[in-house]
Amino acid sequence: MLSTTIAAPAAAQIALRDVSHAFRTARETRTALDGVSLEIRSGEFLSIIGPSGCGKSTLLRLVAGLLPLQSGSLQVNGAVPRRAQQAGAFGITFQDAALLPWRTVLANVRLPLEVQRRRGTPVDPRALLSLVGLSGFDRYYPHQLSGGMQQRAALARALVTDPPILLMDEPFAALDEITRTELRHELLRITAQTRKTVLFVTHSLAEAVLLSDRVAVMSGAPGRIRTVIDIDLPRPRTADNEDAPQFLGYVRRLRSLLREDSDA
Ligand code: ADP
Ligand code: MG
Repeated sequence: MLSTTIAAPAAAQIALRDVSHAFRTARETRTALDGVSLEIRSGEFLSIIGPSGCGKSTLLRLVAGLLPLQSGSLQVNGAVPRRAQQAGAFGITFQDAALLPWRTVLANVRLPLEVQRRRGTPVDPRALLSLVGLSGFDRYYPHQLSGGMQQRAALARALVTDPPILLMDEPFAALDEITRTELRHELLRITAQTRKTVLFVTHSLAEAVLLSDRVAVMSGAPGRIRTVIDIDLPRPRTADNEDAPQFLGYVRRLRSLLREDSDA
């Protein structure tokens, strides 16, 4: 008899099996994703990296139900993406914070609650503004905020329905390096605190290593998952981690995996 307890594998919250996607234009058909299989477990932070145009955004948009599934299977919490979306399974953020200019920060954060016509408020929007470091800015308008503050507001908006899953497509890509570093540490703190399942697309290898439990490396044209690596660094992670040899080792490994792809 086994004397140790073997933990059951964590349930996949997002499961893609053999997902392919092609875009048809008047002139050509372009295969954006080719046979992608990937599982994101409940409570996991998984980042996707890969060359520009390899299908990262397409993958995220399929998961979010923003693009129709053409082939393969895709389940979110055991349901098809559209159904999961209707059940409030995810909050989404993009590179562009996309706040409505005529609404205050607080009214922007509240918007998903109005759209979903929920009774009661799962998370107090003001408490969320404080969580993302924007307390005192609730009456400001988007144009009165810096780019970093706009992304903070977008994150609060994504969290306001308390979804179990966060989908983030290069949320910090348009920010300067200093703001970006600051925000990745904020996200580290917030996701540890809120225990979300996160699917995160980034170009920054350091960002992927700092935040993730696993990193999926994609290759391009057509987009495929090249490999998925475990980031076996202890949590909580801090800025100090970024100078550790083990951390830099992971960054180097990811860089060489990406380089192999561009040399191929
Ligand atoms: P990434 O996010 O990795 O940069 P995308 O998922 O945006 O890549 O795009 C993958 C491929 O699909 C690219 O070749 C892109 O040109 C193409 N593509 C994406 N969206 C469309 C679209 N709406 N119509 C036609 N082609 C598209
Ligand atoms: Mg993209």
